[in-house]
Amino acid sequence: MELYLQNESKKGDVIMEKQSNQTIEHEVFERELPEQLKTKIITPEDSEYHYVRSSYMGVGRPEVVVMAQTNEDVVETINYVSELRKEYPEMPFSIRSGGHGMSGSSTNVGGVILDLSKMNAIEFMDKEEGIVKIQAGAQWGQVAGTLAPHDFIITSGNFGDVGVGGIATSGGSGYFTRSQGLTIDHVIGATLITADGVIHELSETSEPELFWGLRGGGTQLGVAVDFTFKAQKMNSNTHDASLIHQHITYVTEDLEQFVANWGRWMKAAPKEMTSFLMIQKTPQHVYAVDTRNVWAGTDTERAVPELEKALAIDKIYDHSESMMSYASLIPYPQSIHIGQQKIKIANAIVDKVDASLGKAIKEVLETAHVVELRPLDGQVHEVAQDATAWAARHQDGFLSVWMSPKSDAALTKEMEPVTQLATGMYGAYSSIISPEVAALSWPDATGERLKALKEQVDPNHLFNTGLQL
Ligand SMILES: Cc1cc2nc3c(=O)[nH]c(=O)nc-3n(C[C@H](O)[C@H](O)[C@H](O)COP(=O)(O)OP(=O)(O)OC[C@H]3O[C@@H](n4cnc5c(N)ncnc54)[C@H](O)[C@@H]3O)c2cc1C
Repeated sequence: MELYLQNESKKGDVIMEKQSNQTIEHEVFERELPEQLKTKIITPEDSEYHYVRSSYMGVGRPEVVVMAQTNEDVVETINYVSELRKEYPEMPFSIRSGGHGMSGSSTNVGGVILDLSKMNAIEFMDKEEGIVKIQAGAQWGQVAGTLAPHDFIITSGNFGDVGVGGIATSGGSGYFTRSQGLTIDHVIGATLITADGVIHELSETSEPELFWGLRGGGTQLGVAVDFTFKAQKMNSNTHDASLIHQHITYVTEDLEQFVANWGRWMKAAPKEMTSFLMIQKTPQHVYAVDTRNVWAGTDTERAVPELEKALAIDKIYDHSESMMSYASLIPYPQSIHIGQQKIKIANAIVDKVDASLGKAIKEVLETAHVVELRPLDGQVHEVAQDATAWAARHQDGFLSVWMSPKSDAALTKEMEPVTQLATGMYGAYSSIISPEVAALSWPDATGERLKALKEQVDPNHLFNTGLQL
């Protein structure tokens, strides 16, 4: 099964509009648009509509898609939607950066989408220190391609088409999680536009409470239009191959033992090492584990014994080791989004990666296609639990389960063996957007604090799509 489905079409290709059988109502669009937006919208009548109506995870039928180019366009769109809401209180309003949100809520039916994909500039503010300003509509493959020649990396997700806006407001776990922590941990400033159209410049010293909420709960608070990151320097002179990448396929009959062994190896490894597993049950009733180990550290000699230990975890079908650049590690297919991914995803953050987790994964794999397993320790644990609105700072593992589309209730039931072990969730990595997912994503004091902020900056819930507190 191809996990990260790509549409063969690329941006810029010409595609004929596919006619929907359903009638599209145009009542929302008949309202007068602000002058500034008139040349920046796409509606169902336009030939480009097919390119912008959907996200990667969902087919949409919005009335209006605003292709914002400036912060002022974002303000105008927010004001326009606020007015529309007086007449259409339930009208959905979606924010879209990279269009890879797991719940598909960056598109909708009958509402407005604020699309930030044209606001995708990446600018070095300080090349020595690695200070980079990135607009929300940039994608991680583009970030990797821009930073790699300068020997810098930013911890992000593993897939290049995912947007900066979605990850930098919600979490960000990938190949550098143990060495660098989460993406939100490297945000040192941001510009957020709230429901009243006010532009806020956020940092530790400027509106610190909003800055706290932005990093982990930003999707609740407004539209983040840009982020300032502190990037991490890698080896000079080796920018085309500064990372060590080990690819192993294990084949194991004993998944419980495998997960326990991998968990022990990962926990003991220096934090420069991050491993990423994709576990599948084969028709032969054994488990194939596709593994990518990435060493992100300047002292590459120290990696060698760790790579050797990884080869001893279980029976190996195949393996390879290579030096890789940041840009080649993060593939960037730039697909058009047509709701191509039909699979649904649920996740769990767990305290321990041990045999009991292996047993739970085994049970879930009776029906699921794939289970991803990632470490969540290392640098993630170095940040205080109340420093950001991402509360999971003590757990060792993060797993996500890819399942056939079913009702949310059926998915939740199938997930039970692992959710019983869950002490947290990654809200933006979930196709299910229930109050239970919100409660585990923003538990206890984090949830209370975020709720208070939401009431302050978006009391009427203008931002009404996606996971809600
Ligand atoms: C194939 C695939 C691979 C993935 N891999 C990883 C991974 O390795 N690691 C990881 O951490 N995550 C991963 N994700 C999950 C992904 O990071 C989140 O779903 C993220 O929210 C997507 O960001 P986006 O900008 O592409 O999403 P969009 O679909 O554009 O937005 C998703 C939601 O985020 C909010 N949002 C988006 N932009 C903004 C903004 N500028 N301001 C405020 N709110 C905003 C909105 O509520 C929106 O509905 C993956 C997702 C997919 C589909």
